[in-house]
Amino acid sequence: MARTDDTTLHKTLGATPPNLVDLGATRRTFSWSQARAALGASPGGGLNIADVAVHRHARGARAQHVALRCLDRRGGRRDLDYRELSAHSNRFANVLAQLGVGPGDVVAGLAGRIPELYVAALGTLTHRAVFSPMFAAFGPEPIRTRLQRGHAKVLVTTARLYARKIAEIRAGLPELAHVLVVTEDEPLPEGALDLRALLAAASDHYDIGATDPEMPALLHFTSGTTGTPKGAVHVHGAVVAHHCTGRFALDLHDDDVFWCTADPGWVTGTSYGIIAPLTCGVTMIVDEGEFDAQRWYQTLAAERVTVWYTAPTAIRMLMKAGAALAAEHDLSALRFVASVGEPLDPEAVRWGARALGLPIHDNWWQTETGGIMIANYAALDIKPGSMGQPLPGIEAAIVRRVGERIEVVDAPDTEGELALRPGWPSMFRAYLGDAARYDACFVDGWYLSGDLARRDADGYFWFVGRADDVIKSAGHLIGPFEVESALLEHPAVAEAAAIGMPDAIAGAVVKAFVALRAGHERSPELLRELMAFARKRLGPAVAPREIAFIDALPKTRSGKIMRRLLKARELGLPEGDTSTLEEFG
Ligand code: ATP
Ligand code: MG
Repeated sequence: MARTDDTTLHKTLGATPPNLVDLGATRRTFSWSQARAALGASPGGGLNIADVAVHRHARGARAQHVALRCLDRRGGRRDLDYRELSAHSNRFANVLAQLGVGPGDVVAGLAGRIPELYVAALGTLTHRAVFSPMFAAFGPEPIRTRLQRGHAKVLVTTARLYARKIAEIRAGLPELAHVLVVTEDEPLPEGALDLRALLAAASDHYDIGATDPEMPALLHFTSGTTGTPKGAVHVHGAVVAHHCTGRFALDLHDDDVFWCTADPGWVTGTSYGIIAPLTCGVTMIVDEGEFDAQRWYQTLAAERVTVWYTAPTAIRMLMKAGAALAAEHDLSALRFVASVGEPLDPEAVRWGARALGLPIHDNWWQTETGGIMIANYAALDIKPGSMGQPLPGIEAAIVRRVGERIEVVDAPDTEGELALRPGWPSMFRAYLGDAARYDACFVDGWYLSGDLARRDADGYFWFVGRADDVIKSAGHLIGPFEVESALLEHPAVAEAAAIGMPDAIAGAVVKAFVALRAGHERSPELLRELMAFARKRLGPAVAPREIAFIDALPKTRSGKIMRRLLKARELGLPEGDTSTLEEFG
């Protein structure tokens, strides 16, 4: 990969030919029905996610290929091959059957990245129950509301988490019939069952029943960046999209060692931290530890990770730690690095090229889409700051609402709402308990994402901002990402967020918040410098009218900047739902 000018990073293809080379040609021949046919049917009939991800490999040539390489906090390492993972998942499915849990019942998972969590997820899907992942760092209240809203019948957790978070809310959850815990040295909590003992006693044989591809499989809660988290229901047929996007957008090849750093409590950690990579038959790194720059580089080097999927927040933390640290590690195995969850500023893409020897490939999707929709796939020249292009099978457009109708905006570089044509397999099928809200997402044959974007003349999509976050100033539409990206180019800035503040004349003006990198001090001079820096890059109409220093930006537990909270705080308004706010977790 060579950087030839300021706007595009041209691809020089390495030894591994990418899965997706000619997007136009593949688009013309690709169909979801053929993609589904290529995966075959599950033995019981229909299409079961766990069968596609694990059991079919266990029946075939990849049975002894390592599926999960689990790294624990103490430096231990445990491998599970596809046959073993399949057997454990079957055991879990049998445990559910013994407990009287039926297809369609909800099984929630609340644990760090331990092997049992993966077994529970895959065993739940094997049994055709619905898996609902929860983020282990949530406090008792966000857990309680999710369990209650999802009518969870079973919870899989650890004895430690049970004592800290579940014991106090258990009595208020009458529908929660069984809590299965993993114990280390702790005693088994009263009222809980010992998961390891149950697994050991269960049979490793399980015949998966007929699985209608429209059968609910996953219940994911959104990040809660813009308000109360929504519960998005996904079906077994989604696995076709997980698989194809794993191949196309993450360029997964059979012998890859893949590491997705997203927590399995979020949709990325499930779609791409469990399902997609396994359907591709790769070896997946499961790292129990939390973020630590030194250890992450060590893991990439020691495990010879080839494909790495992470998030802008993590990348910015690595940038903070400095490129010198990256240079101390042998990252020569790494072939492809991708990012999702928030916009990836151009500076971060270029930093990847410098520090990792690979630019970072941004891609876009949301809980509702279930899988990657728009991506900088491996063979695409990168325009830093762009999310890339819609994958085969995905029709994306920039649209405008005109009354009850939708008008597609064909003119390039025009801002509008990012819309998708329904029909891809991992599209959500419901918002839990909110049919009206679900219906409102679909207008005139389009799914409206709630994000604003533009498409350039070459077909690249550029994120502008969430519809709620966009700033309308003196007739201009200003995307916070544009302002933030400019500020992030300044060497003193580690993180930035932009919001609109009411203004009598302009309607709104931009206010930006910046957190400084280590080694930089707050000062009126730096503030003036940043103002001038932003004005030079953005022009006076878009540049922030005011910049304030902040220690850290408010973020969701999944690491997304909560601009609505910054705004509420500035304006002295109620903060709304803050259950997903990091500092309250
Ligand atoms: P909520 O819907 O509860 O407010 P959320 O939208 O943050 O939370 P997710 O589904 O986890 O919940 O996040 C999807 C959103 O994240 C997208 O709609 C988009 O706003 C943002 N996003 C994801 N990937 C990208 C990307 N590559 N570039 C820009 N924004 C992205
Ligand atoms: Mg959302």
